[in-house]
Amino acid sequence: MAMDLGLTGKRALVCAASRGLGRGIAAALAAEGVDLVLNARGEEALEQTAGDLRKAHGVQVLTVAGDITREETRQAALAVAGEPDILITNAGGPPPGSWRDWSREDLEAAVAANMFTPLLLIQACLPAMIGRGWGRIVNVTSSSVRAPIPELGLSNMARTGLTGAVAGIARQVAKHGVTINSILPGRHATDRIEALDRARAEADGITQAEVRRRAQSRNPTERDGDAGDFGAVAAFLCSQQAGYIVGQNILVDGGGVPLTM
Ligand code: NAP
Repeated sequence: MAMDLGLTGKRALVCAASRGLGRGIAAALAAEGVDLVLNARGEEALEQTAGDLRKAHGVQVLTVAGDITREETRQAALAVAGEPDILITNAGGPPPGSWRDWSREDLEAAVAANMFTPLLLIQACLPAMIGRGWGRIVNVTSSSVRAPIPELGLSNMARTGLTGAVAGIARQVAKHGVTINSILPGRHATDRIEALDRARAEADGITQAEVRRRAQSRNPTERDGDAGDFGAVAAFLCSQQAGYIVGQNILVDGGGVPLTM
């Protein structure tokens, strides 16, 4: 029997949501009767996703095309979303590379996209959530917050910074019925993983299929996750039932990061 998450009629702003994990979250919320404001840069895929979700779930879906790391897109998304009950922060991840090659600009771009952007969105949405006495914020970060991924040093840096900041904020707003948590993806079959596998294949001189096979064989489940698994966890964190989950970092990685706790 389905578990009613108590979200019917809520409104969510879901950033970076035309494909991949963001789309998975949007779909899971739509299935719970949540009206959506979706964002992504590419208009075509964004409209396609919006149309698919309207048709499948009968919810209202508005779109704001643009780069969410830019001030004008953030303002536009916030204006269209009004005062959302639910905020999902997400954006593309920083490029892979070596610490030897980072310029100051690379460092700044990574923190701007994956640390400052979610923080600014959170800052903008919190006052209304606090005023209403209810809100849910979920950040899409990465398993790199728990265990560094060597070739994704910029991601390790920026996402851990975000995690530290929200650890404090989450505990300041919980008394108002607002929760902030993060979900840490491991390896989910999305376009992002395709691109990272391609880069790894070139660097190691092996095929992309071999990169994938090796990665999957290292995971306890021997497979990649998918956007559906991921979206379901996000929807639960947004539920009424999850109101006592505060400031947590939930790994959804098939057990891939070898941690005892
Ligand atoms: P994806 O398949 O490449 O999808 C990214 C989505 O975000 C697309 O809809 C994309 O649309 C949109 N997007 C990207 N940059 C954006 C921006 N600046 N502004 C607005 N929309 C933007 O990526 P994903 O696998 O879902 O990954 C989502 C996040 O999780 C990334 O930060 C990634 O680094 C992180 N992550 C993913 C995995 C994984 O296994 N997949 C693991 C660890 C961390 P447009 O390109 O049209 O904007």
